[in-house]
Amino acid sequence: RKQIFKLSTGSSKLDKLLGGGIESMSITEVFGEFRTGKTQLSHTLCVTAQMPGPNGYIGGKVMFIDTEHTFRPERLRAIAERFNLDQTAVLENILYARAYNSEHQYELLNSVAAKFHEEAGIFKLLIVDSVMALFRVDFSGRGEMADRQQKLGQLMSRLQKISEEYNVAVFVTNQITSDFGAAPADADLQKPVGGNILAHASTTRLALKKGKGRRRVAKIYDSPDLEESEVTFAITSGGIDD
Ligand code: ADP
Ligand code: MG
Repeated sequence: RKQIFKLSTGSSKLDKLLGGGIESMSITEVFGEFRTGKTQLSHTLCVTAQMPGPNGYIGGKVMFIDTEHTFRPERLRAIAERFNLDQTAVLENILYARAYNSEHQYELLNSVAAKFHEEAGIFKLLIVDSVMALFRVDFSGRGEMADRQQKLGQLMSRLQKISEEYNVAVFVTNQITSDFGAAPADADLQKPVGGNILAHASTTRLALKKGKGRRRVAKIYDSPDLEESEVTFAITSGGIDD
């Protein structure tokens, strides 16, 4: 029987907001404007996923799909140091793949599934940072929206299947619409891209906005069973923290 587990974000307040952390066998989406900490959170999870946790969780390997070329091993080293982990070992437990276009992003999931199958029970987390970026480039025309959403639906359903079949947490980052011109200060006005397809595919959606200095504000977006309260966290050299 597969036992659901939860991964720490590095911030106890953010974990609490999420009902314990990023959950396995489901898709968690985080969205927000540029520099709100989506990639830093992705990097922090790469490390916390390797650490033992509640309910007998023993930690495991991570698969990172990068579409924006923002993966930074040196950030992982600093985060590993914060948690007193061996930096080389932490890096060795992260498999990295760069996706070059939306079709390639989908095809990579074949290799991901093959790897998860080959090393059964070893992988605990699959990250896609960011999930929409390549779709926005490849389907930029107005008339291409239906096609984009269809392909996006295929990708998300594949991600959901992988999360359930291999009992991994799937963590995707997303952007917001720029329909409002300059990014609005009020996060309630910020809408994630990807429309209904992404909204229905993500089990948990987390909205991020900027606070003062290194501080960021997180809020659960549109959840049937989680409280819609706000928490703040910090982006530090050691990753996401309270
Ligand atoms: P997003 O992916 O949402 O665009 P990022 O996750 O890249 O945003 O976060 C960028 C923020 O992280 C910036 O405000 C930057 O100052 C901060 N940051 C990046 N590296 C470090 C570090 N080593 N120490 C502290 N803050 C950092
Ligand atoms: Mg980013």
